[in-house]
Amino acid sequence: MLPNFTYLRAKTVTEAVRALAAPGARLHAGGTDLLGCLRDGVFKADKLVSVSGMAALRGIAKVPTGGLRIGALTTLADVAANKDVVRDYPALAQAALAVGSPQLRNQGTIGGNVCQRPRCWYFRGDFHCLRKGGDTCYAMQGENRYHAIFGASACCMVHPSDTAVALVALGARARITGPGGARTVPLSSFFVLPAKTVTAETVLGRGEVLTDILLPAPEARTKSAFRKVRSRGAWDFALASVALALTADATGVVTHAQVVLGAAAPTPWRAAGAEKALVGNKLTAELAARAAQAAVEGAEPLSQNEYKVALFKGIVEEQLLAMA
Ligand SMILES: Cc1cc2nc3c(=O)[nH]c(=O)nc-3n(C[C@H](O)[C@H](O)[C@H](O)COP(=O)(O)OP(=O)(O)OC[C@H]3O[C@@H](n4cnc5c(N)ncnc54)[C@H](O)[C@@H]3O)c2cc1C
Ligand code: SF4
Repeated sequence: MLPNFTYLRAKTVTEAVRALAAPGARLHAGGTDLLGCLRDGVFKADKLVSVSGMAALRGIAKVPTGGLRIGALTTLADVAANKDVVRDYPALAQAALAVGSPQLRNQGTIGGNVCQRPRCWYFRGDFHCLRKGGDTCYAMQGENRYHAIFGASACCMVHPSDTAVALVALGARARITGPGGARTVPLSSFFVLPAKTVTAETVLGRGEVLTDILLPAPEARTKSAFRKVRSRGAWDFALASVALALTADATGVVTHAQVVLGAAAPTPWRAAGAEKALVGNKLTAELAARAAQAAVEGAEPLSQNEYKVALFKGIVEEQLLAMA
């Protein structure tokens, strides 16, 4: 059952920021993640601040300098269907389409997707683990088959967002407004590893609202793609995913590569070794195999998730071959 809370429908970002500065206040967008967390007692809220009535935070538009602005309240269904996103940023359209089910994509927003809380079953259950302010990570020595193979220190959860993986690969930026004014940060720095802070997944501070996602103008001869593997065909989070963005010169030599793994780490994870292997070379079957091997170099699987190493290697190679 949902606990009691007060509810405010903010009309402007300024009003939302002011209301969210109060301890115990939480932002409500589509509610598909937030309401489940409240119902299951993952965290508490004294006040919900709804931003869903703000038309200014909804929609996708071209910006004069090139690129796209996606309002944080734009639904995943709208992102997946937008013709500019599909043409110029296919990895993002594919990632948005890979989220949950049609109902979730119609209700869930892109802002909520990147700000959603972890799916670790201890965190979602009755365990007062490190991420909830406790002193133990139960997954480290417990059930960890869906957990991280990179970037885990105190906490080994994997970031659950599909679109975050594509947005990092595409060089997107997040526009944030808070009590101290507005700022813009690259999505690659928006997510934080547990080594920096274990109780939050993003750089958002109290009262801060993610208002827009900004995509850079598409580069000539750039291709992007997203691939997700899950245990069942729908309604499921990734076991492993990869987003690729590759730019080639006129002769087909890769000049710029972004390889980002999802469900691999507590943040979207840049496979820097794979990117290095790709740049300066033509994409062949031999190079795809070498880059895939490099993508999993340095992996540190836990007691139950060794299978993820082979899984990531396989999907990176397959997706590179598909792009070639
Ligand atoms: C059954 C099920 C399956 C799912 N499957 C997937 C999946 O396959 N892939 C995937 O990526 N996700 C999945 N989700 C997670 C998630 O619910 C959706 O992805 C959705 O996009 C969340 O958006 P929302 O608008 O409903 O967020 P909300 O539930 O409203 O908010 C989520 C969190 O983000 C915060 N927040 C929301 N918007 C902002 C903002 N603009 N600024 C600052 N903070 C904000 C909220 O305070 C809250 O903590 C699933 C959820 C369920 C219940
Ligand atoms: S992996 Fe993170 S969220 Fe899960 S039990 Fe450990 S500390 Fe908590």
